[in-house]
Amino acid sequence: NDEFTHRSVKTKKVMEHFPLCAKQLMEQLQTNHHLRYQGRQQLSFFLKGIGLSVDEALQFWTESFTSGGKMTVDQFNKEYKYNFRHNYGLEGNRINYKPWDCRTILSKPRPSRGEYHGCPYRDYHPDKLVATLKEMSLTQQQVNSVVESCQQQDYTIACTKVFEAVHKTTTADLQIVHPNQYFERSRQAAA
Ligand code: SF4
Repeated sequence: NDEFTHRSVKTKKVMEHFPLCAKQLMEQLQTNHHLRYQGRQQLSFFLKGIGLSVDEALQFWTESFTSGGKMTVDQFNKEYKYNFRHNYGLEGNRINYKPWDCRTILSKPRPSRGEYHGCPYRDYHPDKLVATLKEMSLTQQQVNSVVESCQQQDYTIACTKVFEAVHKTTTADLQIVHPNQYFERSRQAAA
């Protein structure tokens, strides 16, 4: 899939189809030029899932980590390159890892300060979640409904409601269970 390159994956046009978990990881990566281990894994597998090739992925991570001026390409190659090659099954036990579904993401340790993996519907402070949802142009009623699902710990239902609000659709058959499914369905809805 040559549609996705190290440059295109961070454009608005592609990112508008990201679920909130992937969007926040991408934004934090571009701001901090770094992501800690769980975040690197979650975003790396998501990008693999949308069809980013290993070569483009390595270029993407190299640029993201080094463009802030805090790390050289040499350092990146020494400390991080293996990790990303490993995620594509090119190192170590050569397992072709599957992108994480929501259940896997929710089963990992919660993010601590300075970490951005996980599911925002579970992990955001309620005030931050409300502000984020308003930025996404959800109505007060829609915001309330999403918050209610979060309080009931129905995080994937909250995510599904956001999908429906953003895409102005109610798809009875849709239940978000995977960030890559969110991405695919969002692209279909826009087509
Ligand atoms: Fe990501 Fe799944 Fe949470 Fe949605 S419900 S934000 S896709 S982890």
